[in-house]
Amino acid sequence: MSLDVAALRSDTPGVAHRVHLNNAGAGLMPRPVLDAMLGYLTREAEIGGYEAAAEAAGTLDGVYDSIARLLGAERDEIALTENATIAWQLAFYALAFRPGDRILTARAEYAANYVAFLQVARRTGAVIEVIPDDPNGVLDPEALAAMIDERVKLIAITWVPTNGGLRNPAAAVGRIARAHGVTYLLDACQAVGQMPARVDELGCDILSATGRKFLRGPRGTGFLYVRRDLLRDLEPPMIDHFAAPWIAPDRYELRRDARRFETWENNYAARLGLGRAVDYALALGLDAIETRCRALSARLRDGLRGVPSVAVHDLGPDPAAIVTISVGDHDPDAVKADLARSGYNVSVSRPSSTLLDAQARRLPALLRASPHYYNTEDEIDRFVAALATLLSGRD
Ligand SMILES: *Cc1c(COP(=O)(O)O)cnc(C)c1O
Repeated sequence: MSLDVAALRSDTPGVAHRVHLNNAGAGLMPRPVLDAMLGYLTREAEIGGYEAAAEAAGTLDGVYDSIARLLGAERDEIALTENATIAWQLAFYALAFRPGDRILTARAEYAANYVAFLQVARRTGAVIEVIPDDPNGVLDPEALAAMIDERVKLIAITWVPTNGGLRNPAAAVGRIARAHGVTYLLDACQAVGQMPARVDELGCDILSATGRKFLRGPRGTGFLYVRRDLLRDLEPPMIDHFAAPWIAPDRYELRRDARRFETWENNYAARLGLGRAVDYALALGLDAIETRCRALSARLRDGLRGVPSVAVHDLGPDPAAIVTISVGDHDPDAVKADLARSGYNVSVSRPSSTLLDAQARRLPALLRASPHYYNTEDEIDRFVAALATLLSGRD
């Protein structure tokens, strides 16, 4: 089924003000997400924070079911966090490494994850190794399979990196991880909300994602999936009395579900917004969303290829809806600011966010445009024209 773009736009206050092509930064929240949060905050002010939470207990509890449905997981495998980074860290730092243990990752791994690898490698003597790419610049599953031995403790990759449309073959990696019994941690931040992301198909043990990007939820939300049979062996690096109730003076007992990775206090308005955003995406259908994201980003890439001094840097035969370009000798931050003054939201992707990939490909800071299903073909075309005019005027 195709999406009713006009209806979806009338549901999205932001489209009246800006051409928003920064969904890889933060998607525009639809009205139901906004209403869920504003309504809840109003109740907090009117009747009190604890009382509002009690009143909304059923809806708050349903957020776990919504995310479980989105991921094809069970609700007790889901933890809610204040961002994806914390979700990833809590799981990663729960893993035990010994000297010589190998951590396999991909070239376009996100900086936050990579610095954590570096810290743990320094502390434990584990080693970090980068899985080679195929000639298209996509992670090569055959190369990964050839690297596996008994010292491989973890495969941790980003599915869709922050710095371009590359889609790593997350499910093929999962099949290899499963076949060899290696723990597989998948950063799905830029994929969730943009394409189907089902853990049974991906074969991952741990998945982290954010609410604010293609899911169109509020900022400061994230979630963690941990496969049930791994969960039992994972003691969070930090606990409180929610994660692990204090049951005797000298004893605590970890929760049995993934909420052992949570703490007691939470932003319930944000949680409700996240849940509503997930329901919204599920109602539209992730296949339909992906189809439209593909079409709009292909149109954008085609248009940009015709603009003098622009080069498109997205890797792979089937790129996702993150379009990154260099703009010749122009300063991408200045171009971004000029575009903002004309009503176009884009962002700048810096080499330091995916350092290995940026160095290997000698990438400068890139202008990043990330459309979503609620953008129109006309917006894409106007953006390309505006950029072309702007760049020619700056020469
Ligand atoms: C945005 C992003 C993150 C961080 O998500 P937060 O919710 O901001 O913590 C992690 N990994 C990738 C690939 C991202 O693009």
